[in-house]
Amino acid sequence: MKDCLFCKISAKKIPANIIYEDSEAVAFIDINPQAPVHILIVPKKHISTSLDITEKDNALIGHLFRLAAKIAKEKGISERGFRLVMNTNADAGQTVFHIHLHLLGGRHMHWPPG
Ligand code: AMP
Ligand code: ZN
Repeated sequence: MKDCLFCKISAKKIPANIIYEDSEAVAFIDINPQAPVHILIVPKKHISTSLDITEKDNALIGHLFRLAAKIAKEKGISERGFRLVMNTNADAGQTVFHIHLHLLGGRHMHWPPG
């Protein structure tokens, strides 16, 4: 989609610190990390929010979660634990309207979140 930051990053029109890519998704380091490990897992398909995910996206969403687990293992945070977050709309603080999983780890996570 035109003018979407994460569409531009996944199409390599804007640089990012991409650590993984396949035909369906990219993963890159968050520009403003909130934990020692803070990676965004992003489908190449433009989907604005979690509210816009349809049944057609079932395999894609599963792929994002499995990719998050693979990266968590590679980064050495799977045993200690990590958090996966998908913010949706204003109250959750969503700022980029192209769905993404935040993979956060490397420090203790508080609950409830802020
Ligand atoms: P959200 O607030 O859940 O929509 O998350 C958007 C995330 O994208 C934030 O954590 C930002 O720090 C991150 N972000 C924004 N621009 C970039 C960029 N150019 N490269 C990497 N991460 C970005
Ligand atoms: Zn997009």
